[in-house]
Amino acid sequence: MIKKDGHTHTQFSHHGSHEPLDDYIERAISLGFTEYVVTEHAPLPTMFLEHFTGPSEARHGSAMLITELAAYQKEVKRVQLKYADQIAIKSGFELDYLENYETELRQFIIMQADWLDELVISVHFLPNHDKLVAPIDFDPDTLAKYFPEIHSLPQTVFKNYFNTVQKSVRFAATLPNDIVVRIGHMTLIRKYQKYFNLPRFDVDNQLRIDDLLMQIKNNHFQLDYNAAGLSKPYNGETYPTLDIVKKANDLGIELVYGSDAHEVSAVGQFYNMTVSDILKKEK
Ligand SMILES: [Zn+2]
Ligand SMILES: [Zn+2]
Repeated sequence: MIKKDGHTHTQFSHHGSHEPLDDYIERAISLGFTEYVVTEHAPLPTMFLEHFTGPSEARHGSAMLITELAAYQKEVKRVQLKYADQIAIKSGFELDYLENYETELRQFIIMQADWLDELVISVHFLPNHDKLVAPIDFDPDTLAKYFPEIHSLPQTVFKNYFNTVQKSVRFAATLPNDIVVRIGHMTLIRKYQKYFNLPRFDVDNQLRIDDLLMQIKNNHFQLDYNAAGLSKPYNGETYPTLDIVKKANDLGIELVYGSDAHEVSAVGQFYNMTVSDILKKEK
């Protein structure tokens, strides 16, 4: 049986631990994982960084630098060989979808296509009412600063988020089709739900989610079943939330567990819980 962690990070993310990649892999092996995808945050487009909106730690610490790309790839190759007889390690990225940089993002992926096995496409940045594109998951203050509607009109922020995720799926459909694509943590906008006391999605947003799932299904993309929210004090759920997981599973969309580990101890976190949720839904 395949036991896979499909969403993991390394020291190249600059907002996680500096532990060596070997330690992540050895942790995965010790937990019985047979497949492991290294999905470090791909470099952000240069122009996007130049016009960055948000705290400077987010600008400098959201992704690997373009100058680190070769070292990252070499590092993944090294562990693939070192652990070849113990675990299948896939080469990946987590790519930030940015609607104003589709051309740059596509070019980047096409250039990496020979090397790349699997791609997690995620929305961490959203355009706000001033057309600034700001991070939604850096911290609650940053979210509230750029998206003040989160206090009084949270459904409009959800709408903005799901519209952007829909664009990211349409973008993904334009990429070379030999790359496995997974839509990353598709309810990340709930990350600080306990901090802001966010409501559930309203009917209009539920419809957006249904459309999104159909789009994912029709393109044969996978869904990242991301456990990171379970360890976050202001979240406490998986991404996506369980109701969406159930719908996706009923539609036949492939859900792939992801720990989203940014430190060795998080590799495989909550695996049994998330997988048993899927099995329960299959009954
Ligand atoms: Zn990260
Ligand atoms: Zn992410």
